[in-house]
Amino acid sequence: MTLYNYQGPLPHDQRPPRPRVARCGTLPGYKRHQRLKEPVCDPCRQANINECRSRRGPSAEVERIRARFAYFRKAEARIDVGAEVNAA
Ligand SMILES: [Zn+2]
Repeated sequence: MTLYNYQGPLPHDQRPPRPRVARCGTLPGYKRHQRLKEPVCDPCRQANINECRSRRGPSAEVERIRARFAYFRKAEARIDVGAEVNAA
C-alpha cells in the first residue's frame, strides 16, 4: 500500500486483533500474574499495594495524630480570645 491508494481506516472486522495483555505495573497486571500462577513482579506488587492503600481508610496511627492536632487547634481557639485580653 502506498500513500496514493490509501482507502481510509480498515473496517472493524478487517482489523488485526490487538493483543489485550494487562501491562505490568498496574492492578490488572498484578491480577494477571495471580491468574497465571506466576511470581508477581515488583512494579505489579507495588501497584497492588498502592491500590490497597488507596481503598483502605487512614490507619489508626494517622487517626490518632489527627485527633491530637484537632485537640490542640481547639485549645488554641480557646486561648486566643484577643490581644488585649492576653496582655492584661
Ligand atoms: Zn508484572
